[in-house]
Amino acid sequence: MDREELRKYDRLEECVAFHGHICPGLVIGYRASKLGMEKLNEVRAEDEELVAIVENDACFVDAVQVLTGCTFGKGNLIYKDYGKMAMTLASRRTGKGFRIILKERSFRSSDHKEHFELIHKVINDQATDEEKRRFWKLHEERSRRLLETKTEELFDVKESDIELPPKARIFPSEPCAVCGEATMKTKMVEVEGRLICKACLEASK
Ligand SMILES: [Zn+2]
Ligand SMILES: [Zn+2]
Repeated sequence: MDREELRKYDRLEECVAFHGHICPGLVIGYRASKLGMEKLNEVRAEDEELVAIVENDACFVDAVQVLTGCTFGKGNLIYKDYGKMAMTLASRRTGKGFRIILKERSFRSSDHKEHFELIHKVINDQATDEEKRRFWKLHEERSRRLLETKTEELFDVKESDIELPPKARIFPSEPCAVCGEATMKTKMVEVEGRLICKACLEASK
């Protein structure tokens, strides 16, 4: 997709720039974030206004970070290792949240057999140049289709109440009794009366 085509979609170009390429996963994250924000009637989080709970750690999440402003560093991006194309977007201001999940039939690998097989070849460095070209072509076609699919055909949306994480995550640091490195005190473990960091704890096992 060229620039002109990307610009037909609000802020998609930013997502692609951040992620490095256009792909179906990024587009699903893009559509899910747009929908979540529309539902919450929010703008981008300047100061942790939104909280996103993502249920995968793939391309999807990069669009979530760009569009919602929920990032790992701000502590308002929470990762659940469920392997689902789903996210919950909640507002701190209203306490309201929505869980958005891709409909099962929208992303069946059995419907995209050729693409799916090529992904494996490309990832494992077994694809010929011809196959690589074909792969990127299919990747783009699927992305384009996902951009044009009606929202209600793509996702199920449920209102959800979630317990939001505490806002401030800044705590004083103490030196670890083993390595001496400054460590957030709340993250340290007490072993035989001494506070040590988790890295040293793991190394001692
Ligand atoms: Zn990607
Ligand atoms: Zn240590």
